[in-house]
Amino acid sequence: MNDVIIVGAGPAGLMTACELALAGISCTVVDRRGGESTVTRAFGLHARALEVLDARGMADELVARGNPLRTVYPAYASRVDFGRLDTRYPMLLLVPQNGTEKLLRRRATDLGVDIRHHARVVDLTQDAESVRLRLEDGTELAAQYVVGADGAHSTVRDLVDVGFAGDAYSLPMLLADVRIPASEPPPITQVGTEGVVVTLPFGDGWFRVGAWLREERDDAEFARIREAFRRIAGTDYGMSEPRWFSRFTAERRQARSYRSGRVFLVGDAAHVNSPIGGQGMNTGIQDAVNLGWKLAADLRGWAPPWLLDTYHAERHPVGSAVLAMTDHLTGLVLSGSRLRLEVNRRFMAALLHTGPGRRRILGSLSGLEFAYPPAGPGAHPLTGRRAADGPTDRGRLYEVLRAGTFVLLSDQEVPLSRRNRVRPARPLRATGPEAALIRPDGYVAWAGDRDGIEQALVKWCGPAHRTDPEGRHATA
Ligand SMILES: Cc1cc2nc3c(=O)[nH]c(=O)nc-3n(C[C@H](O)[C@H](O)[C@H](O)COP(=O)(O)OP(=O)(O)OC[C@H]3O[C@@H](n4cnc5c(N)ncnc54)[C@H](O)[C@@H]3O)c2cc1C
Repeated sequence: MNDVIIVGAGPAGLMTACELALAGISCTVVDRRGGESTVTRAFGLHARALEVLDARGMADELVARGNPLRTVYPAYASRVDFGRLDTRYPMLLLVPQNGTEKLLRRRATDLGVDIRHHARVVDLTQDAESVRLRLEDGTELAAQYVVGADGAHSTVRDLVDVGFAGDAYSLPMLLADVRIPASEPPPITQVGTEGVVVTLPFGDGWFRVGAWLREERDDAEFARIREAFRRIAGTDYGMSEPRWFSRFTAERRQARSYRSGRVFLVGDAAHVNSPIGGQGMNTGIQDAVNLGWKLAADLRGWAPPWLLDTYHAERHPVGSAVLAMTDHLTGLVLSGSRLRLEVNRRFMAALLHTGPGRRRILGSLSGLEFAYPPAGPGAHPLTGRRAADGPTDRGRLYEVLRAGTFVLLSDQEVPLSRRNRVRPARPLRATGPEAALIRPDGYVAWAGDRDGIEQALVKWCGPAHRTDPEGRHATA
């Protein structure tokens, strides 16, 4: 029996596989496609997703390949300065989704993940001990846990029957990949009374262009997109050689529960939202990093009994917040009201001038401000928040996190018996509490005085004397 089977080799499934494999858990990914995806949907990676990828050593390669934008001029605000974010990645990184997927796939393969194609899941049953999957060709597979990362039309979600509340936007988005002659790159989004047009660079002279219009017509996609650009942007930028088209209907939906027994949902299988704001893949990658270490801890036998349920408790509210934000932005750009847009732009500009307003808006768009409820009363205010990167005696915190373990930030050593779950690191810029326990996904599990360390370690990482199924450092 497999430890974990992941259904879907998109970004969320591949990231989950990487997390499990890093923790030494054997996992298999099954995907109905015949091979790697060649189609790109997402283009934007935000700061928190980049930080999380940095915690696994993958962000800098993406930044080197992509187009980092420090300031963007979206349709819903005059300008948004991601450059003001307090992070190693103060940017919106434009990088085509298949580039991100390639990197994740390479890492998963390097870590020994078995990725099987032409493997469509058609049935799922579970009991208290295991989950069984049946593939279209009749093959039966069993695992202790299954992760449904099979996208917006998830079969896994349907089979566990957790619902997918919400609806579809009434108007489709038209998309095309075209050449645009080299000159000043067009703005990412431009809005008119007819709707919104979008231009995203692949970085090699090709662009993804899109039009989301308030009025639907039966015209051929390319003609309609060009006309929309002429009317909304005043020019079609000389776009030519269309090589790909799609008519795509965005949806706003969320699974009622991200867990059903031994089955978990990540990525678009759990939530789908409007592409305005560029959030879907970012959220899916972070779901995966939230779930991976928890599943691994459970399979290793040292997870506290409440840990697996925190996946839904932490990620469902984030999914809801992202859905509400992207829906609000979409309503604005498709409102057709110049007045409403102008009022919103001015309101956003005023808010972005104030510290709290800036933190809230940039923090939500970038994902940096999302925090998780502290596990227990009387917690330090940092508990549940993202851990800020900073130098330690063993490198930057996000470099220390690359082992996939907890990190104890303190001048105190971690007993040998715990070293396979917790790495010690002494902060070189002591500004916070005396000690902090950082989770493998880069969030603060606990912070406080040195006296509280042992209790925090026992709560999150299990008692030190417990026999460790990995066989290392089994006794204190
Ligand atoms: C136009 C557009 C623009 C976007 N822009 C952005 C952006 O800028 N930033 C951003 O973060 N997000 C963006 N998104 C969203 C982003 O593309 C998705 O959120 C992301 O692809 C979801 O990843 P995933 O791994 O959850 O699912 P997917 O990428 O959909 O992968 C699911 C996988 O599951 C497989 N599968 C499905 N059913 C089965 C089955 N029964 N058995 C086996 N395998 C199965 C599929 O073959 C597929 O490989 C955009 C989306 C669109 C449409």
